[in-house]
Parts: sequence; C-alpha cells; structure tokens
Amino acid sequence: MTYPKFIILDEPVSALDVSIRAQILNLLKHLQEKLGLAYMIISHDLAAARYLATRLAVMYAGKLVETGACDGVYTEPLHPYTEALLSAALPLHPSARRQRIILSGEVPNPVTPPSGCRFHPRCPEPCRAAQTRSPSGARSSRDASPLATLLAESDRHARGVTSAARWGRSGSR
Ligand code: SF4
Repeated sequence: MTYPKFIILDEPVSALDVSIRAQILNLLKHLQEKLGLAYMIISHDLAAARYLATRLAVMYAGKLVETGACDGVYTEPLHPYTEALLSAALPLHPSARRQRIILSGEVPNPVTPPSGCRFHPRCPEPCRAAQTRSPSGARSSRDASPLATLLAESDRHARGVTSAARWGRSGSR
C-alpha cells in the first residue's frame, strides 16, 4: 500500500449528483486534514475548489491569467475572466446576489490564440495595447509564495495599476 502525499484531482466531483458530491468533498477534506495531503485540483467547479484549496490559479486559452490565495481571488478578482467565472459560480450563501457577467465571443483555439493578451477579443473593457502585447506577469503581494513564483508567467491584472498605468488604458474599470 502506498501513502501518497500529493494527489492530482481532475474534476473530482463534476459528474456526481449533489448529495454524493457533498460526501466526496467532505471525505477529501477529511483525508486532507488527517493525512496532511496536498491536492492539486483541476476543475471548472469553483465552489468545490474553494472548499478544498488554499490557492487558486485561473487559466484562459492555455495560459494562467490569475493566481492567488483562494479568499483573495474570490473576494477581489483582478482579471476580467476571473470576474466572469465567479459571476457564474454558485454563491456561498443562497441569499447572496451576484451580477452575472456574460462574455461575448468564443474561447479561442489555444493552438492559434489571439495575439497579445489572449483574452482581448472577449474583454469587456479591452486596454489599448492588448492586441500586440501580453501583460508582463506582474504579481500582487498575495502571489508572493514559492508556488506563485513558479507561476510567474501568469497574466496579472492589478486593476488600475497593471492595465491602466502600465499600458495607458483609457477610461476606468
Ligand atoms: S490585458 Fe487588457 S484586454 Fe487583456 S484582459 Fe486585461 S484589460 Fe482586457
């Protein structure tokens, strides 16, 4: 019998009905705490990710667009794609209200992505230089962990700092 310390979970509960899903999530949480396991969760289920994870990395068209501590990313997303994803996720409380952000256009083929910022054709407020340049990967203080250092190529959006100040975007978010 092996006792792994690191487990990769690819969509661990996406095909399960709600009651089984909750049981599996609780089991994973229990094992995580009891055995000191580290999980890497690949999922479109943001609620499940938040329940199990401490850090979040958001990808768009094959590229990281935002990383950070889960709570920070959930409460203050910096990238417009993260904002749109979170607007479609189940709220933490049934009474919580959230304005849904509907993105136009289609997800591009990652083999032939758009030039510059890969999200620019769908960005609700594209910045001026986005068609030719990609953000440089600056990170906020919440990304100062060793893992985030490894993920340093992520496109970061320090709202009002990265996009507007660095690239001289007109208008405000
Ligand atoms: S870099 Fe510009 S176009 Fe791309 S997501 Fe950010 S604001 Fe939108």
